[in-house]
Amino acid sequence: MKKIIPKLFRINTGSCNGCDVEFVATALVEKFHIETLDIEMVEEIKDANLLVITGPLTARSESFFKDALRQVKKPFAVVGIGTCAISCGIFRDSYAINGPIDKFVEVDVNVAGCPPRPQSIAEGIAKGIKILEQKMNGEATPKKIDSNFKDFSAPETFRGRLSLNEENCVACRTCETVCPSNAIEISKTKDGFIHKIWHNSCCYCGNCAYFCPTGAIFTTNNFDTAKLQNEKFSDVNIGYIHYSTCSNCQEKYMAPTKGLLNKAYNENNIKKLNEKICPKCRKEANFKRIYS
Ligand code: SF4
Ligand code: SF4
Ligand code: SF4
Repeated sequence: MKKIIPKLFRINTGSCNGCDVEFVATALVEKFHIETLDIEMVEEIKDANLLVITGPLTARSESFFKDALRQVKKPFAVVGIGTCAISCGIFRDSYAINGPIDKFVEVDVNVAGCPPRPQSIAEGIAKGIKILEQKMNGEATPKKIDSNFKDFSAPETFRGRLSLNEENCVACRTCETVCPSNAIEISKTKDGFIHKIWHNSCCYCGNCAYFCPTGAIFTTNNFDTAKLQNEKFSDVNIGYIHYSTCSNCQEKYMAPTKGLLNKAYNENNIKKLNEKICPKCRKEANFKRIYS
């Protein structure tokens, strides 16, 4: 394979600058080893073959963005940095936003985060360079790329990718309600609920974990967020929350979880609630017990 020199140009399409500051940190701080990628930073977009793009693409920046793109010579690779660039993040559906960027340019790699960690940015750029090499050598864009650029160690309390413990979820929808990015979607099925976390929309604020009454949803210290564009809509955590069947009337109902019971009731009541009867049958049983 022919060796190429990646010539990087950065475009800000209206970001808050958080991603841009993180990008600069990635470039300048030695421990992220970006120098091993042998990148040349260019000052004119016409000289670039690797575009790093931040921001949700504001209405105001659209024409500048399109003009800039017209000046780039093919082939080139595109790396979107930050949740805004991928899905518009917390600005989605705003009157001032015309993005995300893949409406206007073919994106190769997305790096989620608000902002992403420098290590993820470096990983995304490394993947972008591999795609650029393939494009320049006339090869098809790969479905998957393994990069050796990973150095993913984070403190335990780091707010990385979200995870869900289905057994503790009662489908109360609190997480969906408090999420500022519309990254959580809970839908009803005949057997219960489907709980989806769209990692490419998440701004990693941790609101969902903070407000979840049962601790079912939680942040992890995993920030492996540099993914190829073909994974944009599949990088989703899917959880299934099943109804229980009432042992009395056989109706389906959402049983309280152990975590919720421990919070709300004393041990004796927990035993009764664990009898797997639905709220309606329990109400009737209590009524009979008290008034008969
Ligand atoms: S992803 Fe977050 S940090 Fe990056 S531009 Fe958007 S709001 Fe700012
Ligand atoms: S994860 Fe927590 S907040 Fe979200 S629906 Fe489940 S129990 Fe409710
Ligand atoms: S951390 Fe939770 S609340 Fe915050 S954007 Fe991500 S899914 Fe939504």
